[in-house]
Amino acid sequence: MSAAALYLRLIDVVNARLKTARAAVLIDAPWVAYPHEPGQRDRVKDRSVWLVGAEDDASSKFICEVGQHDRAPLVAAHIAANDPATVIRMCERDLKVLKRHQYDDGGYCSGCGTDVDPLPCPEVRDLAEAYEVSVE
Ligand SMILES: [Zn+2]
Repeated sequence: MSAAALYLRLIDVVNARLKTARAAVLIDAPWVAYPHEPGQRDRVKDRSVWLVGAEDDASSKFICEVGQHDRAPLVAAHIAANDPATVIRMCERDLKVLKRHQYDDGGYCSGCGTDVDPLPCPEVRDLAEAYEVSVE
């Protein structure tokens, strides 16, 4: 894949993730993880069930349930930490980085300011790695 094709592919991947995150916004509030109140359900006997939800002044939304294993609080915290608002911010930041690091087929990166060998430049290469886009 040429550097220019990689660049365009990476923009497509970031935009696809951004679109998914925007579609997942159920309520304009951060997601939070919290333990399920004991006694509300009987199916969990000996391990905590954790929930992820969002709440603002007007409403609340249940997002998902994580439970019945020792790491449920951590998994729920991880899900909440990667809520749509967070992913949207990360994708928008990454698109800004990509905009700064545009380069032509001659290998000049507008962000790095020098000819980069090998292409892509380190910033674009790092983003490609993060989004699992092959640089080969
Ligand atoms: Zn660059």
